[in-house]
Amino acid sequence: MQKIGHFIDGKHVEGTSGRFADVYNPATGEIQAQVALASQAEMDAAIANAAAAQRGWAATNPQRRARVMMKFVDLLNRDMDKLAEALSREHGKTLPDAKGDVIRGLEVAEFCIGAPHHLKGEFSEGAGPGIDMYSMRQPLGVVAGITPFNFPAMIPMWKFCPAIACGNSFILKPSERDPSVPIMLAELMIEAGLPAGVLNVVNGDKSAVDAICDAETIQAVGFVGSTPIAQYVYSRSTANGKRAQCFGGAKNHMIIMPDADLDQAADALVGAGYGAAGERCMAVSVAVPVGETTANALIEKLAPKVEALKIGPYTAGNDVDFGPLVTKEALGRVRGLVDQGVKEGASLVVDGRDFSMQGYEDGFFMGGCLFDNVTRDMDIYKTEIFGPVLSVVRAETYEEALDLPLSHEYGNGTAIFTRDGDTARDFASRINIGMVGINVPIPVPLAYHTFGGWKKSGFGDLNQHGPDGFKFYTRTKTVTSRWPSGLKDGAEFVIPTM
Ligand code: NAD
Repeated sequence: MQKIGHFIDGKHVEGTSGRFADVYNPATGEIQAQVALASQAEMDAAIANAAAAQRGWAATNPQRRARVMMKFVDLLNRDMDKLAEALSREHGKTLPDAKGDVIRGLEVAEFCIGAPHHLKGEFSEGAGPGIDMYSMRQPLGVVAGITPFNFPAMIPMWKFCPAIACGNSFILKPSERDPSVPIMLAELMIEAGLPAGVLNVVNGDKSAVDAICDAETIQAVGFVGSTPIAQYVYSRSTANGKRAQCFGGAKNHMIIMPDADLDQAADALVGAGYGAAGERCMAVSVAVPVGETTANALIEKLAPKVEALKIGPYTAGNDVDFGPLVTKEALGRVRGLVDQGVKEGASLVVDGRDFSMQGYEDGFFMGGCLFDNVTRDMDIYKTEIFGPVLSVVRAETYEEALDLPLSHEYGNGTAIFTRDGDTARDFASRINIGMVGINVPIPVPLAYHTFGGWKKSGFGDLNQHGPDGFKFYTRTKTVTSRWPSGLKDGAEFVIPTM
Protein backbone atom coordinates (compact mmCIF):
# COMPACT_ATOMS: atom_id res chain seq x y z
CA MET A 1 0.00 0.00 0.00
CA GLN A 2 1.41 3.41 -1.01
CA LYS A 3 2.01 5.67 1.99
CA ILE A 4 1.81 9.46 1.59
CA GLY A 5 3.65 11.43 4.24
CA HIS A 6 4.42 15.15 4.55
CA PHE A 7 6.73 17.52 2.65
CA ILE A 8 8.85 19.49 5.09
CA ASP A 9 12.08 21.42 4.61
CA GLY A 10 12.10 20.53 0.92
CA LYS A 11 11.94 16.79 1.57
CA HIS A 12 9.43 13.97 1.82
CA VAL A 13 8.97 13.02 5.45
CA GLU A 14 7.16 9.96 6.79
CA GLY A 15 4.33 10.43 9.27
CA THR A 16 5.13 9.40 12.82
CA SER A 17 1.72 9.69 14.51
CA GLY A 18 0.71 6.15 13.54
CA ARG A 19 -2.61 7.53 12.26
CA PHE A 20 -3.56 7.32 8.57
CA ALA A 21 -6.57 8.01 6.34
CA ASP A 22 -7.50 5.98 3.26
CA VAL A 23 -7.19 7.66 -0.13
CA TYR A 24 -9.58 6.16 -2.70
CA ASN A 25 -9.68 5.94 -6.44
CA PRO A 26 -13.33 7.08 -6.69
CA ALA A 27 -13.75 5.50 -10.13
CA THR A 28 -12.91 1.98 -8.95
CA GLY A 29 -13.75 2.32 -5.27
CA GLU A 30 -10.32 0.93 -4.35
CA ILE A 31 -8.10 2.27 -1.61
CA GLN A 32 -4.98 3.36 -3.51
CA ALA A 33 -2.93 4.94 -0.73
CA GLN A 34 -2.87 5.87 2.91
CA VAL A 35 -2.09 9.41 3.95
CA ALA A 36 -0.41 10.21 7.24
CA LEU A 37 -2.38 12.34 9.72
CA ALA A 38 -0.02 14.67 11.58
CA SER A 39 0.12 14.96 15.34
CA GLN A 40 0.41 18.33 17.06
CA ALA A 41 4.15 17.68 17.60
CA GLU A 42 4.68 17.05 13.87
CA MET A 43 2.79 20.23 13.03
CA ASP A 44 4.79 22.24 15.56
CA ALA A 45 8.07 20.95 14.08
CA ALA A 46 6.94 21.93 10.56
CA ILE A 47 5.98 25.41 11.79
CA ALA A 48 9.37 25.89 13.51
CA ASN A 49 11.11 24.85 10.29
CA ALA A 50 8.99 27.32 8.28
CA ALA A 51 9.75 30.13 10.75
CA ALA A 52 13.51 29.57 10.38
CA ALA A 53 13.23 29.63 6.57
CA GLN A 54 11.04 32.74 6.50
CA ARG A 55 13.69 35.21 7.64
CA GLY A 56 15.94 34.63 4.63
CA TRP A 57 12.98 34.49 2.24
CA ALA A 58 11.58 37.81 3.46
CA ALA A 59 15.03 39.34 2.94
CA THR A 60 15.11 38.08 -0.67
CA ASN A 61 14.09 40.99 -2.87
CA PRO A 62 10.59 40.83 -4.43
CA GLN A 63 11.91 40.52 -7.98
CA ARG A 64 13.83 37.39 -7.08
CA ARG A 65 10.78 36.00 -5.33
CA ALA A 66 8.78 36.76 -8.47
CA ARG A 67 11.30 34.83 -10.58
CA VAL A 68 10.52 31.72 -8.53
CA MET A 69 6.83 32.17 -9.42
CA MET A 70 7.81 32.64 -13.07
CA LYS A 71 9.73 29.38 -13.13
CA PHE A 72 6.93 27.65 -11.18
CA VAL A 73 4.47 28.60 -13.96
CA ASP A 74 6.81 27.01 -16.53
CA LEU A 75 7.06 23.83 -14.48
CA LEU A 76 3.29 23.60 -14.04
CA ASN A 77 2.92 23.75 -17.82
CA ARG A 78 5.68 21.16 -18.26
CA ASP A 79 3.99 18.73 -15.82
CA MET A 80 0.36 19.53 -16.69
CA ASP A 81 -0.54 16.00 -17.85
CA LYS A 82 1.12 14.36 -14.85
CA LEU A 83 -0.60 16.70 -12.39
CA ALA A 84 -4.00 16.25 -14.04
CA GLU A 85 -3.68 12.47 -14.00
CA ALA A 86 -2.75 12.38 -10.29
CA LEU A 87 -5.59 14.80 -9.54
CA SER A 88 -8.24 12.81 -11.43
CA ARG A 89 -7.05 9.53 -9.91
CA GLU A 90 -7.73 10.76 -6.38
CA HIS A 91 -10.61 13.20 -6.98
CA GLY A 92 -12.47 11.51 -9.84
CA LYS A 93 -13.01 14.57 -12.06
CA THR A 94 -12.38 14.29 -15.81
CA LEU A 95 -8.90 15.01 -17.16
CA PRO A 96 -9.88 18.25 -18.97
CA ASP A 97 -11.54 19.45 -15.76
CA ALA A 98 -8.45 18.46 -13.73
CA LYS A 99 -6.34 20.57 -16.11
CA GLY A 100 -8.75 23.45 -15.51
CA ASP A 101 -8.18 22.96 -11.77
CA VAL A 102 -4.40 23.31 -12.28
CA ILE A 103 -4.72 26.21 -14.73
CA ARG A 104 -6.99 28.29 -12.46
CA GLY A 105 -4.22 28.03 -9.83
CA LEU A 106 -1.47 28.69 -12.36
CA GLU A 107 -3.23 31.93 -13.32
CA VAL A 108 -2.87 33.13 -9.73
CA ALA A 109 0.84 32.21 -9.82
CA GLU A 110 1.06 34.37 -12.99
CA PHE A 111 -0.59 37.27 -11.16
CA CYS A 112 1.94 36.86 -8.33
CA ILE A 113 4.81 37.41 -10.76
CA GLY A 114 3.74 41.05 -10.37
CA ALA A 115 4.70 40.96 -6.66
CA PRO A 116 7.28 43.77 -6.92
CA HIS A 117 4.54 46.03 -8.25
CA HIS A 118 1.84 44.89 -5.82
CA LEU A 119 4.14 45.35 -2.84
CA LYS A 120 5.11 48.92 -3.69
CA GLY A 121 4.20 51.18 -0.81
CA GLU A 122 2.92 54.74 -0.74
CA PHE A 123 4.93 57.91 -0.29
CA SER A 124 3.91 61.47 0.58
CA GLU A 125 6.66 63.98 0.15
CA GLY A 126 6.41 67.10 2.31
CA ALA A 127 3.61 65.88 4.58
CA GLY A 128 4.82 68.66 6.92
CA PRO A 129 7.87 70.91 7.09
CA GLY A 130 10.77 68.59 6.24
CA ILE A 131 8.49 65.61 6.86
CA ASP A 132 7.95 62.69 4.53
CA MET A 133 5.51 59.92 5.22
CA TYR A 134 5.64 56.49 3.64
CA SER A 135 4.04 53.12 4.10
CA MET A 136 5.33 49.69 3.24
CA ARG A 137 3.73 46.27 3.10
CA GLN A 138 5.67 43.67 5.04
CA PRO A 139 5.12 39.91 5.22
CA LEU A 140 3.38 38.48 8.28
CA GLY A 141 5.83 35.63 8.96
CA VAL A 142 4.48 32.08 8.92
CA VAL A 143 0.94 31.71 7.55
CA ALA A 144 -1.21 28.65 6.86
CA GLY A 145 -3.80 27.37 4.41
CA ILE A 146 -6.38 24.64 5.03
CA THR A 147 -7.99 23.47 1.81
CA PRO A 148 -10.89 21.28 0.61
CA PHE A 149 -10.94 18.17 -1.58
CA ASN A 150 -12.78 19.63 -4.54
CA PHE A 151 -9.97 21.76 -6.05
CA PRO A 152 -6.77 20.11 -4.79
CA ALA A 153 -4.53 22.17 -7.14
CA MET A 154 -6.33 25.50 -7.59
CA ILE A 155 -7.18 26.36 -3.99
CA PRO A 156 -3.76 25.53 -2.48
CA MET A 157 -2.23 27.78 -5.18
CA TRP A 158 -4.76 30.56 -4.46
CA LYS A 159 -3.37 30.50 -0.94
CA PHE A 160 0.36 29.82 -1.14
CA CYS A 161 1.23 31.78 -4.29
CA PRO A 162 0.34 35.26 -2.95
CA ALA A 163 1.51 34.39 0.58
CA ILE A 164 4.94 33.26 -0.61
CA ALA A 165 5.31 36.05 -3.18
CA CYS A 166 4.79 38.48 -0.27
CA GLY A 167 7.73 36.94 1.63
CA ASN A 168 5.89 34.66 4.06
CA SER A 169 6.53 30.98 4.77
CA PHE A 170 3.50 28.78 4.24
CA ILE A 171 2.11 25.70 5.96
CA LEU A 172 -0.37 23.92 3.68
CA LYS A 173 -2.81 21.44 5.24
CA PRO A 174 -4.58 19.99 2.20
CA SER A 175 -7.62 17.73 2.17
CA GLU A 176 -6.86 14.19 3.28
CA ARG A 177 -9.06 12.89 0.41
CA ASP A 178 -6.65 13.90 -2.40
CA PRO A 179 -3.25 14.77 -0.93
CA SER A 180 -0.90 13.87 -3.84
CA VAL A 181 -1.18 16.98 -6.02
CA PRO A 182 -0.48 19.48 -3.19
CA ILE A 183 2.80 17.63 -2.51
CA MET A 184 3.66 17.65 -6.23
CA LEU A 185 3.07 21.42 -6.26
CA ALA A 186 5.47 21.87 -3.33
CA GLU A 187 8.12 19.78 -5.15
CA LEU A 188 7.74 22.04 -8.18
CA MET A 189 8.13 25.18 -6.06
CA ILE A 190 11.44 23.79 -4.74
CA GLU A 191 12.53 22.94 -8.29
CA ALA A 192 11.61 26.52 -9.25
CA GLY A 193 14.12 27.83 -6.72
CA LEU A 194 12.11 28.25 -3.52
CA PRO A 195 14.32 27.73 -0.46
CA ALA A 196 13.51 24.62 1.59
CA GLY A 197 11.08 25.25 4.45
CA VAL A 198 9.25 28.19 2.84
CA LEU A 199 6.44 25.85 1.72
CA ASN A 200 5.75 22.88 3.98
CA VAL A 201 2.86 20.49 3.32
CA VAL A 202 1.54 18.79 6.43
CA ASN A 203 -1.22 16.24 5.93
CA GLY A 204 -3.80 15.67 8.57
CA ASP A 205 -7.32 15.98 9.91
CA LYS A 206 -8.90 17.90 12.80
CA SER A 207 -5.80 17.54 15.04
CA ALA A 208 -3.59 19.20 12.43
CA VAL A 209 -6.17 21.94 11.85
CA ASP A 210 -6.49 22.61 15.58
CA ALA A 211 -2.69 22.76 15.89
CA ILE A 212 -2.64 25.44 13.15
CA CYS A 213 -5.42 27.48 14.79
CA ASP A 214 -3.61 27.38 18.14
CA ALA A 215 0.03 27.82 17.04
CA GLU A 216 1.42 31.08 18.32
CA THR A 217 3.88 31.40 15.42
CA ILE A 218 1.20 31.28 12.73
CA GLN A 219 0.02 34.78 11.94
CA ALA A 220 -2.77 34.16 9.43
CA VAL A 221 -5.04 31.31 8.37
CA GLY A 222 -6.77 30.95 5.03
CA PHE A 223 -9.46 28.26 4.99
CA VAL A 224 -11.76 26.88 2.30
CA GLY A 225 -14.28 24.10 2.97
CA SER A 226 -17.75 23.52 4.36
CA THR A 227 -19.49 26.25 6.35
CA PRO A 228 -19.49 24.65 9.83
CA ILE A 229 -15.73 24.04 9.65
CA ALA A 230 -15.10 27.49 8.11
CA GLN A 231 -16.92 29.10 11.04
CA TYR A 232 -15.07 26.89 13.52
CA VAL A 233 -11.63 27.65 12.07
CA TYR A 234 -12.47 31.35 11.90
CA SER A 235 -13.56 31.46 15.56
CA ARG A 236 -10.63 29.42 16.86
CA SER A 237 -7.97 31.26 14.81
CA THR A 238 -9.23 34.74 15.59
CA ALA A 239 -9.67 33.86 19.28
CA ASN A 240 -5.93 33.13 19.16
CA GLY A 241 -5.23 36.57 17.71
CA LYS A 242 -4.71 35.51 14.10
CA ARG A 243 -5.88 37.09 10.91
CA ALA A 244 -8.33 34.68 9.23
CA GLN A 245 -10.36 34.42 6.05
CA CYS A 246 -12.53 31.32 5.91
CA PHE A 247 -14.70 30.47 2.92
CA GLY A 248 -17.61 28.06 3.26
CA GLY A 249 -20.36 26.29 1.38
CA ALA A 250 -22.87 27.54 -1.15
CA LYS A 251 -26.30 27.25 -2.73
CA ASN A 252 -26.06 29.11 -6.01
CA HIS A 253 -29.24 30.24 -7.75
CA MET A 254 -29.63 31.03 -11.43
CA ILE A 255 -32.67 33.10 -12.39
CA ILE A 256 -34.05 32.60 -15.89
CA MET A 257 -36.20 35.49 -17.08
CA PRO A 258 -38.94 34.98 -19.69
CA ASP A 259 -36.88 36.94 -22.26
CA ALA A 260 -33.76 34.77 -21.85
CA ASP A 261 -32.40 32.59 -24.63
CA LEU A 262 -33.70 29.31 -23.20
CA ASP A 263 -31.37 27.06 -25.20
CA GLN A 264 -28.41 29.00 -23.90
CA ALA A 265 -29.81 28.93 -20.36
CA ALA A 266 -30.44 25.16 -20.46
CA ASP A 267 -26.90 24.46 -21.73
CA ALA A 268 -25.48 26.75 -19.05
CA LEU A 269 -27.48 24.98 -16.34
CA VAL A 270 -26.37 21.53 -17.39
CA GLY A 271 -22.67 22.51 -17.44
CA ALA A 272 -22.85 24.51 -14.21
CA GLY A 273 -25.10 22.08 -12.36
CA TYR A 274 -23.51 18.75 -13.25
CA GLY A 275 -19.87 19.55 -14.15
CA ALA A 276 -17.46 17.89 -11.69
CA ALA A 277 -20.51 15.92 -10.44
CA GLY A 278 -21.77 19.12 -8.82
CA GLU A 279 -18.81 19.13 -6.42
CA ARG A 280 -17.99 22.81 -6.97
CA CYS A 281 -18.65 25.66 -4.58
CA MET A 282 -19.75 27.70 -7.61
CA ALA A 283 -21.99 24.95 -9.07
CA VAL A 284 -25.50 26.13 -9.89
CA SER A 285 -27.78 23.97 -7.77
CA VAL A 286 -31.03 25.97 -8.01
CA ALA A 287 -32.66 27.15 -11.24
CA VAL A 288 -35.41 29.75 -10.84
CA PRO A 289 -37.45 30.19 -14.03
CA VAL A 290 -39.79 33.19 -13.91
CA GLY A 291 -43.36 32.46 -15.07
CA GLU A 292 -45.15 29.21 -15.85
CA THR A 293 -44.34 29.27 -19.57
CA THR A 294 -40.61 29.75 -18.94
CA ALA A 295 -40.60 26.98 -16.32
CA ASN A 296 -42.39 24.44 -18.51
CA ALA A 297 -40.20 25.21 -21.53
CA LEU A 298 -37.04 25.03 -19.42
CA ILE A 299 -37.91 21.64 -17.91
CA GLU A 300 -38.69 20.34 -21.40
CA LYS A 301 -35.24 21.39 -22.61
CA LEU A 302 -33.39 20.30 -19.48
CA ALA A 303 -34.77 16.79 -18.95
CA PRO A 304 -33.34 15.18 -22.15
CA LYS A 305 -30.01 16.92 -21.61
CA VAL A 306 -29.75 15.55 -18.06
CA GLU A 307 -30.76 12.07 -19.23
CA ALA A 308 -28.04 12.21 -21.90
CA LEU A 309 -25.19 13.18 -19.56
CA LYS A 310 -22.11 11.02 -20.12
CA ILE A 311 -20.71 9.69 -16.87
CA GLY A 312 -17.51 7.70 -16.55
CA PRO A 313 -14.01 7.30 -15.17
CA TYR A 314 -11.36 9.88 -16.05
CA THR A 315 -9.52 7.18 -17.98
CA ALA A 316 -12.32 7.26 -20.59
CA GLY A 317 -10.80 10.50 -21.89
CA ASN A 318 -12.57 13.53 -23.27
CA ASP A 319 -15.86 11.77 -23.92
CA VAL A 320 -17.12 12.08 -20.34
CA ASP A 321 -19.12 14.96 -18.82
CA PHE A 322 -18.43 14.10 -15.21
CA GLY A 323 -16.99 11.37 -13.02
CA PRO A 324 -17.79 9.76 -9.68
CA LEU A 325 -18.34 11.45 -6.33
CA VAL A 326 -15.31 11.64 -4.10
CA THR A 327 -16.17 8.95 -1.53
CA LYS A 328 -18.76 6.30 -0.77
CA GLU A 329 -19.99 8.51 2.12
CA ALA A 330 -20.48 11.44 -0.26
CA LEU A 331 -22.44 9.18 -2.63
CA GLY A 332 -24.64 7.90 0.23
CA ARG A 333 -25.23 11.43 1.50
CA VAL A 334 -26.28 12.78 -1.92
CA ARG A 335 -28.55 9.80 -2.64
CA GLY A 336 -30.09 10.26 0.82
CA LEU A 337 -30.84 13.91 0.09
CA VAL A 338 -32.53 12.95 -3.20
CA ASP A 339 -34.67 10.38 -1.30
CA GLN A 340 -35.55 13.15 1.14
CA GLY A 341 -36.58 15.48 -1.72
CA VAL A 342 -38.96 12.82 -3.07
CA LYS A 343 -40.41 12.33 0.43
CA GLU A 344 -40.91 16.06 0.82
CA GLY A 345 -42.99 16.16 -2.37
CA ALA A 346 -40.65 17.58 -5.03
CA SER A 347 -41.08 16.07 -8.52
CA LEU A 348 -38.04 14.00 -9.52
CA VAL A 349 -38.10 14.50 -13.30
CA VAL A 350 -34.81 12.66 -13.89
CA ASP A 351 -33.70 10.03 -11.36
CA GLY A 352 -30.01 9.15 -11.47
CA ARG A 353 -29.87 7.40 -8.11
CA ASP A 354 -29.53 3.87 -9.49
CA PHE A 355 -26.94 4.63 -12.14
CA SER A 356 -24.26 1.96 -12.27
CA MET A 357 -21.13 2.22 -14.38
CA GLN A 358 -20.45 -0.97 -16.27
CA GLY A 359 -17.05 -2.36 -15.33
CA TYR A 360 -16.84 0.12 -12.42
CA GLU A 361 -19.64 -1.18 -10.22
CA ASP A 362 -17.69 -0.37 -7.04
CA GLY A 363 -16.97 3.22 -8.13
CA PHE A 364 -18.82 6.10 -6.47
CA PHE A 365 -20.87 6.98 -9.56
CA MET A 366 -24.29 8.56 -9.59
CA GLY A 367 -26.44 9.78 -12.48
CA GLY A 368 -27.73 13.33 -12.84
CA CYS A 369 -30.96 14.12 -10.95
CA LEU A 370 -33.41 16.88 -11.86
CA PHE A 371 -36.07 18.09 -9.44
CA ASP A 372 -39.03 20.30 -10.36
CA ASN A 373 -41.46 22.07 -7.98
CA VAL A 374 -38.95 22.41 -5.19
CA THR A 375 -40.04 24.84 -2.47
CA ARG A 376 -38.07 26.89 0.02
CA ASP A 377 -39.10 24.86 3.07
CA MET A 378 -37.60 21.60 1.70
CA ASP A 379 -34.25 20.20 2.92
CA ILE A 380 -33.01 19.84 -0.66
CA TYR A 381 -33.48 23.60 -1.04
CA LYS A 382 -31.90 24.61 2.25
CA THR A 383 -28.91 22.23 2.19
CA GLU A 384 -25.82 22.32 -0.01
CA ILE A 385 -26.15 18.93 -1.77
CA PHE A 386 -22.70 18.97 -3.45
CA GLY A 387 -23.70 16.34 -6.02
CA PRO A 388 -25.16 16.08 -9.54
CA VAL A 389 -28.60 17.34 -8.51
CA LEU A 390 -30.36 20.42 -9.90
CA SER A 391 -33.50 21.80 -8.23
CA VAL A 392 -36.00 23.93 -10.10
CA VAL A 393 -37.90 26.40 -7.91
CA ARG A 394 -40.67 28.13 -9.86
CA ALA A 395 -41.34 31.84 -9.31
CA GLU A 396 -44.24 33.95 -10.61
CA THR A 397 -42.37 37.25 -10.82
CA TYR A 398 -38.85 38.69 -10.89
CA GLU A 399 -39.30 40.01 -7.31
CA GLU A 400 -40.31 36.55 -6.07
CA ALA A 401 -37.30 35.02 -7.87
CA LEU A 402 -34.91 37.64 -6.49
CA ASP A 403 -36.14 37.03 -2.95
CA LEU A 404 -34.93 33.39 -3.05
CA PRO A 405 -31.15 34.02 -3.24
CA LEU A 406 -31.61 37.20 -1.16
CA SER A 407 -33.12 35.18 1.70
CA HIS A 408 -30.86 32.13 1.45
CA GLU A 409 -28.21 31.75 4.15
CA TYR A 410 -25.43 31.20 1.59
CA GLY A 411 -24.06 33.97 -0.61
CA ASN A 412 -21.27 32.59 -2.77
CA GLY A 413 -22.37 32.94 -6.40
CA THR A 414 -25.51 33.62 -8.43
CA ALA A 415 -26.52 34.34 -12.02
CA ILE A 416 -29.32 35.82 -14.07
CA PHE A 417 -30.13 34.99 -17.68
CA THR A 418 -32.00 37.78 -19.45
CA ARG A 419 -31.82 40.00 -22.53
CA ASP A 420 -32.97 43.03 -20.55
CA GLY A 421 -30.23 45.36 -19.29
CA ASP A 422 -32.45 47.03 -16.70
CA THR A 423 -33.30 43.75 -15.00
CA ALA A 424 -29.68 42.57 -15.07
CA ARG A 425 -28.49 45.85 -13.58
CA ASP A 426 -31.14 45.80 -10.87
CA PHE A 427 -30.17 42.21 -10.00
CA ALA A 428 -26.43 42.95 -9.79
CA SER A 429 -27.13 45.97 -7.60
CA ARG A 430 -29.62 44.47 -5.14
CA ILE A 431 -28.38 40.92 -4.64
CA ASN A 432 -26.47 40.20 -1.40
CA ILE A 433 -24.06 37.68 -2.92
CA GLY A 434 -20.31 37.98 -3.57
CA MET A 435 -20.04 36.85 -7.21
CA VAL A 436 -22.69 37.59 -9.83
CA GLY A 437 -23.04 36.34 -13.41
CA ILE A 438 -25.09 38.05 -16.11
CA ASN A 439 -25.71 35.41 -18.76
CA VAL A 440 -22.65 33.67 -17.24
CA PRO A 441 -23.57 30.66 -15.07
CA ILE A 442 -20.33 30.27 -13.06
CA PRO A 443 -18.96 33.76 -12.49
CA VAL A 444 -15.59 32.80 -10.99
CA PRO A 445 -13.50 35.99 -11.07
CA LEU A 446 -10.15 35.82 -12.87
CA ALA A 447 -6.84 35.88 -10.99
CA TYR A 448 -6.47 39.68 -11.10
CA HIS A 449 -9.90 40.19 -9.48
CA THR A 450 -10.84 38.65 -6.16
CA PHE A 451 -12.93 35.63 -5.17
CA GLY A 452 -15.17 35.53 -2.11
CA GLY A 453 -18.71 34.85 -0.96
CA TRP A 454 -20.97 36.71 1.45
CA LYS A 455 -23.21 35.60 4.35
CA LYS A 456 -22.48 31.99 5.48
CA SER A 457 -20.17 31.49 2.49
CA GLY A 458 -17.36 33.63 3.86
CA PHE A 459 -16.07 34.64 7.30
CA GLY A 460 -13.55 37.40 7.80
CA ASP A 461 -12.30 40.27 5.73
CA LEU A 462 -10.77 40.44 2.25
CA ASN A 463 -11.23 38.00 -0.63
CA GLN A 464 -8.90 35.41 -2.11
CA HIS A 465 -6.30 36.22 -4.81
CA GLY A 466 -6.03 39.43 -6.83
CA PRO A 467 -5.06 42.60 -4.94
CA ASP A 468 -6.81 41.32 -1.77
CA GLY A 469 -4.38 38.37 -1.63
CA PHE A 470 -1.48 40.79 -1.29
CA LYS A 471 -3.31 42.75 1.40
CA PHE A 472 -4.26 39.68 3.40
CA TYR A 473 -0.72 38.30 3.50
CA THR A 474 1.03 41.57 4.41
CA ARG A 475 0.66 44.23 7.06
CA THR A 476 1.18 47.93 6.59
CA LYS A 477 3.89 49.85 8.36
CA THR A 478 3.78 53.62 8.06
CA VAL A 479 6.89 55.70 8.69
CA THR A 480 6.88 59.44 9.41
CA SER A 481 10.37 60.86 8.96
CA ARG A 482 11.86 64.29 9.53
CA TRP A 483 15.41 65.23 8.67
CA PRO A 484 17.43 67.88 10.54
CA SER A 485 16.47 70.74 8.23
CA GLY A 486 12.91 70.37 9.54
CA LEU A 487 13.95 70.30 13.23
CA LYS A 488 13.93 74.00 13.95
CA ASP A 489 11.03 74.69 16.26
CA GLY A 490 12.10 73.17 19.59
CA ALA A 491 9.85 70.82 21.53
CA GLU A 492 6.20 70.45 20.47
CA PHE A 493 3.51 69.46 22.99
CA VAL A 494 0.42 69.66 20.85
CA ILE A 495 -0.48 66.90 18.37
CA PRO A 496 0.63 68.17 14.96
CA THR A 497 -2.16 68.98 12.52
CA MET A 498 -1.70 69.94 8.90
P1 NAD B 1 -14.53 20.09 4.66
O1 NAD B 1 -15.04 21.23 5.44
O2 NAD B 1 -14.95 18.71 5.02
O3 NAD B 1 -12.91 20.07 4.70
C1 NAD B 1 -12.15 21.22 4.45
C2 NAD B 1 -10.86 21.14 5.27
O4 NAD B 1 -11.20 21.13 6.66
C3 NAD B 1 -10.05 19.88 5.00
O5 NAD B 1 -8.69 20.23 4.94
C4 NAD B 1 -10.36 18.99 6.20
O6 NAD B 1 -9.29 18.15 6.55
C5 NAD B 1 -10.63 19.99 7.30
N1 NAD B 1 -11.62 19.48 8.28
C6 NAD B 1 -12.64 18.62 8.05
N2 NAD B 1 -13.32 18.39 9.18
C7 NAD B 1 -12.73 19.11 10.16
C8 NAD B 1 -13.00 19.31 11.54
N3 NAD B 1 -14.01 18.69 12.16
N4 NAD B 1 -12.19 20.14 12.24
C9 NAD B 1 -11.17 20.78 11.64
N5 NAD B 1 -10.89 20.63 10.32
C10 NAD B 1 -11.65 19.81 9.58
O7 NAD B 1 -14.86 20.41 3.11
P2 NAD B 1 -14.67 19.47 1.85
O8 NAD B 1 -15.69 18.40 1.88
O9 NAD B 1 -13.25 19.09 1.70
O10 NAD B 1 -15.00 20.51 0.67
C11 NAD B 1 -16.29 20.77 0.22
C12 NAD B 1 -16.85 22.05 0.81
O11 NAD B 1 -15.98 23.13 0.52
C13 NAD B 1 -18.18 22.44 0.22
O12 NAD B 1 -19.02 22.92 1.25
C14 NAD B 1 -17.84 23.57 -0.75
O13 NAD B 1 -18.88 24.47 -1.03
C15 NAD B 1 -16.74 24.23 -0.02
N6 NAD B 1 -15.91 25.03 -0.91
C16 NAD B 1 -16.00 26.40 -0.78
C17 NAD B 1 -15.26 27.20 -1.62
C18 NAD B 1 -15.33 28.69 -1.49
O14 NAD B 1 -14.44 29.38 -2.01
N7 NAD B 1 -16.31 29.23 -0.81
C19 NAD B 1 -14.43 26.63 -2.59
C20 NAD B 1 -14.36 25.22 -2.67
C21 NAD B 1 -15.11 24.45 -1.81
